[in-house]
Amino acid sequence: MKEIYDKLIQMAISKGAASAKIIPIEAISVNDWVRQKCEFGCTQYGKKYTCPPYVQPPKQTRKILKEYNKALIIKFGEIKDRMEWRGIQKLMAELEREAFLSGLYKAFAYGAGTCKLCDNCSADQVQSPTQFDKRGCANRRIARPSMEGVGIDVYQTAKNSGYDLKVVPKEDMCFTSYCLLLLE
Ligand code: SF4
Repeated sequence: MKEIYDKLIQMAISKGAASAKIIPIEAISVNDWVRQKCEFGCTQYGKKYTCPPYVQPPKQTRKILKEYNKALIIKFGEIKDRMEWRGIQKLMAELEREAFLSGLYKAFAYGAGTCKLCDNCSADQVQSPTQFDKRGCANRRIARPSMEGVGIDVYQTAKNSGYDLKVVPKEDMCFTSYCLLLLE
């Protein structure tokens, strides 16, 4: 297993990640208040199929995590342009596929923040959202939920993983972000 983990870590770093490490699944912190912040305060609520109300609630995330024993946490540092996320999202999809092809067939990626894969998301036009609207996603094969959207406390998870994630006080400042790849 170490060989596969090392391959995924090397792949992440060679394609732009600042750091990556394997963590126990228990290091991932899930809390209901995280979802509340998505629903109240985020301008992107309901505007992407990878965000609430289209993604599972924290209660289901806790259940899903029990079906895994490890995760790869990946740190992306010094991000200036939020559009760099398009490349990061594609990398997460590549890592998920690589893990799957290496035998970790349950591999599933979680992104950070709102989806940037398309210039415009048709979710923005939906008036009365239902779960079936997700069929309208233009990149269903690679679009994945955001960690916050499913209730993952990214700050606590980073801390539990030995990273120090600080709040960025201004919108135009460089920031560090994290993504997760569940593995088994
Ligand atoms: S991939 Fe495109 S259509 Fe799908 S959630 Fe992201 S922005 Fe919306």
